[in-house]
Amino acid sequence: MTVERDGVAARAGAAFPRRILSGMRPTGRLHLGNYVGALENWVRLQEAGWSNFHMVADWHMLTTGHEDTSALQSDIHEMVVDWLAAGLDPKRCVLFVQSAVQEHAELHLLLSMLVSKARLERIPTLKEQIRDLHLDEATISYGHLGYSVLQAADILLYKASHVPVGEDQVPHVELTRELARRFNFLYCQDREPVFPEPEAQLTAFPRLRGLDGSRMSKSLGNTILLADSPEEIAAKVKQAYTDPKKIRANDPGRPDADPLDGHPGCVVYEYQRKFNPGGAADVAARCRAGTLACVPDKGHLSEVLAAALAPVRERRARWSADPSAVRDVIADGNRRARAVAEATMDEVRSAMGLKPRAALAR
Ligand code: ATP
Ligand code: MG
Repeated sequence: MTVERDGVAARAGAAFPRRILSGMRPTGRLHLGNYVGALENWVRLQEAGWSNFHMVADWHMLTTGHEDTSALQSDIHEMVVDWLAAGLDPKRCVLFVQSAVQEHAELHLLLSMLVSKARLERIPTLKEQIRDLHLDEATISYGHLGYSVLQAADILLYKASHVPVGEDQVPHVELTRELARRFNFLYCQDREPVFPEPEAQLTAFPRLRGLDGSRMSKSLGNTILLADSPEEIAAKVKQAYTDPKKIRANDPGRPDADPLDGHPGCVVYEYQRKFNPGGAADVAARCRAGTLACVPDKGHLSEVLAAALAPVRERRARWSADPSAVRDVIADGNRRARAVAEATMDEVRSAMGLKPRAALAR
């Protein structure tokens, strides 16, 4: 499949305008991985004048968290605050909640007929989740197995041409393309295709590692949060994984991965590359030469991160102080999302030979 890195789209179908759909699970506060892997790209595309749809994926949260939903509504609210804090502008983007647009469930059901169980079981993202969250494969629910079909419905309802996500989500975009192709082939032989085949858009950091060296993830507790204070950032960076063989300040270190030794590379160096691009090469050279001590390097990185996140923290404080404005943003987004989703479902029903919505009342 075509995957884009960093640049704006080089190719978009003439019949389908450039539009992005991308969401996040309301499973906790957002972290640097969400930011550099997806959110930063959303803001960049907004600034470039794209049509942005961003979905709080609350039904997706249920795949791994259905037993306890007590924090769900506050997590939804806080996630939208994080988005606004990162620079999304609700006048230019549609920020909505998945469960407020029931067409997601309807399209999910219809698309689920077009994919085999075996295809879903092969999706690497599911295997990774089973490994990371120590799940028992035999207990995976029907809904969890179908996660990626729901995600395809999310994307296709808005006819998104591009999906800016982190690397872990690329297999889901691939399935979305297959489902769009299959639907168009089966039901649109004598008409214009209903769905575009969307492309994943990756950033230069599509899989940021967490403090422990594995992928940074809300579920793994290895995160630096967008909302963390400078003190919290400094305390977390102190714990970050470096080269375990660099014990004394003047030992030479390995900033890059050493797969032969199972060393995934120094996490502090990865963050330096992203947030201190001008200085990272020098940091790496001094580390390799044994003239860089980890403790002051971590102190420096903490300051760089705190400065990079300062505007996000300031915007966060403003939106946090006005919860009813956030609720208005969501209500307005839900309305705008529904209008698009309803129009797409009319086309889907007509292509599949199902009765139009208007006929259902009778
Ligand atoms: P959870 O552990 O609950 O699944 P998460 O941290 O994986 O949470 P998601 O809501 O699943 O976050 O993902 C939101 C977006 O952030 C997706 O586009 C995903 O690909 C991206 N993303 C998540 N983690 C990273 C990461 N470590 N590096 C880059 N992108 C990431
Ligand atoms: Mg995830």
